[in-house]
Amino acid sequence: MNEIEKLVRENIRSLSPYSTARDEYQGTPGVFLDANESPYPGALGLNRYPDPRQKALKARVSALKGLPVANIFLGNGSDEAIDLMYRIFCTPGKDNALVIAPSYGMYTVAAGINDIQLRSIPLGPDFSLPEAAIREATDAYTKLLFLCSPNNPSGNAFDPAQLERLIAGFPGIVVLDEAYADFSAKGSLRARVCQYRNLVVLQTFSKAFGMAGIRLGMAFADAYVIELMNRVKYPYNISQPAQDAAWKALGSTPEEEVAEIVRERERLADRLPAFPFVHKVWPSDANFLLVRVDDADALYGFLLEQGIIVRNRSRVKGCEGCLRITVGTPAENEKLLTSLADYEKSHLR
Ligand code: PMP
Repeated sequence: MNEIEKLVRENIRSLSPYSTARDEYQGTPGVFLDANESPYPGALGLNRYPDPRQKALKARVSALKGLPVANIFLGNGSDEAIDLMYRIFCTPGKDNALVIAPSYGMYTVAAGINDIQLRSIPLGPDFSLPEAAIREATDAYTKLLFLCSPNNPSGNAFDPAQLERLIAGFPGIVVLDEAYADFSAKGSLRARVCQYRNLVVLQTFSKAFGMAGIRLGMAFADAYVIELMNRVKYPYNISQPAQDAAWKALGSTPEEEVAEIVRERERLADRLPAFPFVHKVWPSDANFLLVRVDDADALYGFLLEQGIIVRNRSRVKGCEGCLRITVGTPAENEKLLTSLADYEKSHLR
C-alpha cells in the first residue's frame, strides 16, 4: 500500500462504486433502452442522463488548465469536493482535520456534517500562514489540512514557496483552495499535483469565470485521488445543462473582466481609507476587500438600506469590526463609494 492509500478510510478503499448504465456503454449512439429514462425528449430535450464522467467537458478543462483528464475531478461547485475530502479520508470519532482561521466556512461546516474533529489554527499577524503551529497541531490522526490562497475572507495569497514547504512536509492530504487564484499575481500551484501526491487543488467556475449559477467546481490531484473522488461522488453529479453551458463558455477566458475587477479592487483599496470611519483595508489578491470600520453593524445596516449588500464578518474571530466587500462593476463600486460618502455625512450631523 502506498502512502496515499494508507490515508484512505478502510470502507472507501474497498468500496465498489455504483456503475451507471452509461459507464458500461461504449460505442456509437444507438437505441437506449438501458437506463429507464423516458424515450421522449419533453419540452427541454433533457430526457437522457448526462455523462457521469463529463468526458467532453473535461477535455476542455484539461486544455484550459494544462493537466491530463486523469488529474481532474468536476463537482457540483467546489463545495462538493470539500465534502468528498472528509468522506474519503476521515473516519468519524478517530481522525481529525486542520483549518486556518479565519478562512472559508464550508471547511468547518463539512467537518461538522461528517462528524470529524476540527483543529482551528489562527493565522498570524496580518493573516500570515502559521507554519509552526500547523506542524504542532498535526498528529498521527490528522488526515487533512485545508489552506485557502488567496484566503477568504482575508484576501491575501500566501507565498507559493511557503505553501510548497508545508505540502512537502505534511503527512496527510493538503487541500489547497484556489477559488480566487485568477485574481492573484501569485498564480496557481495546480501543476504541482504531479509532484506532490498529497496535494489536492480546488478551483471553481463561480468566481473569475462568472458561472456561479451553474455550480461547477474543479479539483486537481494525483490520478488515484481523482479515482477515489469519482468512486464516492453521486453518479450524475453534473447536470446536462451545466455541462453544456460550461463547455460552450470555456472557449474563452474572461481576461478582460478579471483585469477590470483587479483594477477596480485597487481603485477601491485606494479610495476606502480616505473615509474617517475606515480603519484598515487589507491588501487583497482576490475579488473582494476586507475592511475594518468603526461600527461594522451600523455601516452594514446603512448600506443595506441603500440596497447594497456586503458581508458582515465582524463576528468572525480575527475579523472583529470587519466587512467583506466584493468588487462589483465600476458603476456598482461608484454607488458604494457614494453611499459611503452619505454615511460619512449622516455621521457628522
Ligand atoms: N472556496 C472558497 C474559498 C470560497 O470562497 C467559495 C465560495 N464563496 C467556494 C470555495 C465555493 O465555491 P463553489 O461555488 O465552487 O462551490
